[in-house]
Amino acid sequence: MPFNELRKDYLLDRWVVIATERGRRPTDFARQQRQETKTNVCPMCPGNEQMTPPAVLVYLKSGSGIRRDKDTSGHRHKNWLIRVIPNLYPAFSPPKTRISRRQIVRNRNLSLAVGHHEVLVESPDHQGHPANTSIPQLTHVINAYVDRLRELSTKTYVRYVSIFRNHGLDAGASLSHAHSQIIATPSVPKTVAEEMVASKAYWKKNRTCAFCEIIRQEHDGPRFILENSKFNVFAPYASINPMEFWIFPKRHETSLLQMDRNEVKSLAETMKTCLNRLKTLVNDPPYNYGFHLSLDKEAAEYYHWHLEVYPKLAVWAGFEKSTGVYINTMTPETAAENLRKKTADS
Ligand SMILES: [Zn+2]
Ligand SMILES: [Zn+2]
Ligand SMILES: [Zn+2]
Repeated sequence: MPFNELRKDYLLDRWVVIATERGRRPTDFARQQRQETKTNVCPMCPGNEQMTPPAVLVYLKSGSGIRRDKDTSGHRHKNWLIRVIPNLYPAFSPPKTRISRRQIVRNRNLSLAVGHHEVLVESPDHQGHPANTSIPQLTHVINAYVDRLRELSTKTYVRYVSIFRNHGLDAGASLSHAHSQIIATPSVPKTVAEEMVASKAYWKKNRTCAFCEIIRQEHDGPRFILENSKFNVFAPYASINPMEFWIFPKRHETSLLQMDRNEVKSLAETMKTCLNRLKTLVNDPPYNYGFHLSLDKEAAEYYHWHLEVYPKLAVWAGFEKSTGVYINTMTPETAAENLRKKTADS
């Protein structure tokens, strides 16, 4: 009798049932009608700057380059290309006065949610999503991620900066204007912490980076999606989402802070290509993406930053919620086979 496969993540103790037997194809997910977010007035659109708190960072056109500035309480910049604003309902908020580690971490079961929660408006164009925006605009988005990461990571109470994007109502984007979010936290979140522990152990044993090894393994294999001079993309062996893919820089670095100009541009091109193929294949599905990085100098040898993209094509229900084991009805090999195909835009 044929069986499905139970696969374990490369590093995490996370298991997924991959439906190799009666696996689904991208077209099986493509026909559903997507719900659109309805807003009368978009607070992120140009002209509505007064509806939001003052921006902590704006990119303004200046000759052939970019000028960086911020708003003040009385003044909001117009004609911006990128705008980063504090979230109106922050999950993590900055301390009003100096705060010590002991004041934040109260005991093993309680810490204060000290940090920052920001919204990065990716474009003045309401529909300027990465799959269809220009490469220069997407380059601004990535540069702004790096600017915020650089500033937030210098704060003594910040141990991690999560940069992520929710696309579509079903993936948690309550506003449809192209935007990302940045949350700075006082501790390293679970998934990244587990990746760090596992990759550190791997490094101690093998004196090589586990992620560099994964990139090598997946290169040209059945889960390979694309490669350019700076990045590699593949569907992970134990994908928990249908059509999931991961983008890795070829150069071994712990965070986005080390990217040079060419890598930033190449990342923009890589993201646009992959997200555009996903959009074309599955009818603009909702998705989330998030960067995994490390701000720990000690992790330089063993941690390797990357971007994980999770299309939201399945509903996690009783089994997933009660066991922490996932069921994925599309094999990553099928996902990669389809995501390898060029579309008009890629
Ligand atoms: Zn808008
Ligand atoms: Zn590496
Ligand atoms: Zn990761």
